[in-house]
Amino acid sequence: PLVLGIESSCDETGVGIVRGTTLLTNTVSSSMDEHVRFGGVIPEIASRAHLDAFVPTLRQALSDAGVDLEDIDAIAVTSGPGLAGALMVGVCAAKALAVATGKPLYAINHLVAHVGVGLLDGQSPAGKDSASDRSAATHGAVAPRLPDNLGALLVSGGHTEILKINRITDDVELLGSTIDDAAGEAYDKVARILGLGYPGGPAIDRLAREGNPKAIRFPRGLTQPKYMGTAEEPGKHRYDWSFSGVKTAVARCVEQFEARGEDVPVADIAAAFQEAVVDVITSKAVLACRENGITDVLLGGGVAANSRLRELTGQRCASAGIRLYVPPLDLCTDNGAMVAALGSQLVMAGIGPSGIRFAPDSSMPVTTVSAPA
Ligand code: ATP
Ligand code: MG
Ligand code: FE
Repeated sequence: PLVLGIESSCDETGVGIVRGTTLLTNTVSSSMDEHVRFGGVIPEIASRAHLDAFVPTLRQALSDAGVDLEDIDAIAVTSGPGLAGALMVGVCAAKALAVATGKPLYAINHLVAHVGVGLLDGQSPAGKDSASDRSAATHGAVAPRLPDNLGALLVSGGHTEILKINRITDDVELLGSTIDDAAGEAYDKVARILGLGYPGGPAIDRLAREGNPKAIRFPRGLTQPKYMGTAEEPGKHRYDWSFSGVKTAVARCVEQFEARGEDVPVADIAAAFQEAVVDVITSKAVLACRENGITDVLLGGGVAANSRLRELTGQRCASAGIRLYVPPLDLCTDNGAMVAALGSQLVMAGIGPSGIRFAPDSSMPVTTVSAPA
């Protein structure tokens, strides 16, 4: 099927078009530049930017893909989780398009879409493109198989989650998530403390290469899984993270250097902070995989750009015998292609559309892959 996907949950306005599992276009407009002077995404500004960007982004996507709206078989839109006002713009636009064209509309989960992008053609373990891995059955009505027992580690400015994908179209479990800040948010806050500007992730990543990660040891929050056993599932655990403690520890550390009148060793602090965050993300994710029989993991979200996260995830997955998939970076950050990719899977699986009565849900649970009609 030819599917149009719309994304507007945060600061990216994305329109993607896929045919089956083939990516035709991934057109993204970001309002990041408008948030820089505030040091974080301002919801009202993001919503306004989506309003301005949607129609031009849609036109660009259709022209890049060389398709007309009438050719589209289905429309998919992120209906949550995300910023309420930002989601509302994409959802209203999608409903208007669906009504105007008479096409079925799927209201889909943003987090599951981050995983669905891994089903597009040309992806194989460790993110290397490999022609031999492209399934012959991917252009028709047959969905390619996801690896059995797939885990997804999603790390971004808004999310830090480990999911178990039993069936991407309707059976997803949350194994753990952050209980406070998302990892990318922690990077941004620490970058602000260190005077590195916004967004802080790339700056810390760069600076950390010049620092000694062992110079300081910052706390790793919640290193142990939490026992959640019940009569039905006696061995059940949750694998949550907490990143606000390490952020506070960085602030105290900077204060101490300043109180002593010493130079703040910014590169060492960046390296030690990064090591603390990446260590606990990867150790807990791998533990969650081992205890849940997960043999393949997809890494997604904007923080997947982080060099140390990629390195340590790769090493620890390899030691644990887990295959790692890392989609190309422009498909890891928020985009419309991932929404279209998941929408296409839903169409191919024969799942019914959502109608046009659904409302965006800023805290849509990950167990809801798409809103039922
Ligand atoms: P969502 O959470 O809905 O996916 P988002 O816009 O917050 O949305 P992304 O756009 O996926 O998230 O990613 C942005 C985040 O990624 C920012 O917090 C940024 O600091 C972080 N980031 C980007 N590059 C790096 C990097 N190299 N190292 C660490 N963090 C990074
Ligand atoms: Mg973003
Ligand atoms: Fe996202």
